[in-house]
Amino acid sequence: MDDFYTVYSDVMKQNYNDSTKVNLIKFGLLFFLKESNFYIEKIKISKVARYVYRFLIDNDFDSNLTSNVLVKNIARYRPEDLIYHVENEVLNWIKLSNSFLQYKDSELFSINQNRLTNDQMHKIDKVVDIICIKHFNKKIEYSENVCNDFRAIKYVNGKFISVDRNEKIDINKTRVRNRAIENTKYCELCDKNDISDLKFVYIHNIFDDLNDLCDANNTLVLCEEHFRLYNSNFFRLDEFGKINVFKEHHSLDSRMRISKHNLTPQKLNYLRKNLS
Ligand SMILES: [Zn+2]
Repeated sequence: MDDFYTVYSDVMKQNYNDSTKVNLIKFGLLFFLKESNFYIEKIKISKVARYVYRFLIDNDFDSNLTSNVLVKNIARYRPEDLIYHVENEVLNWIKLSNSFLQYKDSELFSINQNRLTNDQMHKIDKVVDIICIKHFNKKIEYSENVCNDFRAIKYVNGKFISVDRNEKIDINKTRVRNRAIENTKYCELCDKNDISDLKFVYIHNIFDDLNDLCDANNTLVLCEEHFRLYNSNFFRLDEFGKINVFKEHHSLDSRMRISKHNLTPQKLNYLRKNLS
């Protein structure tokens, strides 16, 4: 059987429901495969889980669509919490087809010889569209790439503006916030962990290129109160992630600092850049 037909029949043979609801994790896996052109050279299941996590949180699905409690509350979880579920869906995918997929030692890979051509991908896209319309009453277009959000946004005088409508954009309603809270589910100053209350600020907000806008390392996750204080210039962070208090406030303490665990080399780089 040729590669195209194998992929095509794999996609068709899948069951995208669980009991009466939609199996959103299966959809996440489907979009992962689609974004990889159905050609996978060994990838760790944790990376597939991270993709599925992003697919779920970025699409902000109606929670009535799913019966899975973890999926319903995806923002409260971390990508690694999905590994077990994604692994199950991978095994389930393979079981339901003569699959082009293989799974061994926590790694997923495909046995097809070639990437699908654009023409073949186009045919698969159409099938995926039909499956999506059946389950969501609409097509879904998705890419994991955060920078896609910024195609329609420009940054002028400290504000984000939509290119086509000229309206102010709340940066905390974009996918950058999803990436900022991906592994940081708490305020980095006070540990408050009410997810719906969390916002982010950019550490270095002079953007040299699109990557600075999309990079979660350039963000600081804060609760509503510390977000407000940051934006009113009550404090900044030094190059070690330690707080510099400019105006006294009962919610600010000069001993506050970002935990070492969160200080990635890239984050330290942004902190340094911000001071220079
Ligand atoms: Zn806080």
